[in-house]
Amino acid sequence: MNDLRDLYQQLILDHNQSPQNFRDMEDATSKVDGHNPLCGDEITLYLKVIDNTIEDISFKGSGCAISKASASIMTTLIKGKTVAEAEGLFTRFHTMITTGKISGDMGKLAVLAGVYKFPARVKCAVLSWHTMNNALHNKTELTTTESL
Ligand code: ZN
Repeated sequence: MNDLRDLYQQLILDHNQSPQNFRDMEDATSKVDGHNPLCGDEITLYLKVIDNTIEDISFKGSGCAISKASASIMTTLIKGKTVAEAEGLFTRFHTMITTGKISGDMGKLAVLAGVYKFPARVKCAVLSWHTMNNALHNKTELTTTESL
């Protein structure tokens, strides 16, 4: 249990300090803003989808360590996936983060499974994922965790 907690903390720290794919994207095919008013997390998510494949994904914004780490890890997993694969991962991540149940290979995301016990933190963790899912479906209005 301590090992998992240490791993979790290290992962959050690493991705918060040096987030992956943290940049603007000039040639994005989709761009969606997301907001978690409960915590104040804000994200702008960029997707470049070509022939049903996510060629590139990046984000900008400011927020707490969990929101930033979750967004950073997400970009590393989603890049290069097909739209269907990204949707599948979104569904499995959503189940994990709201129930703690892990299905299939969640990679590094598995360390976030314990977050479901903290409902306020769940919104921090899912913000980037919901924003990404809306970007996939070209729902370009502001994504907010308020309605979740
Ligand atoms: Zn937050």
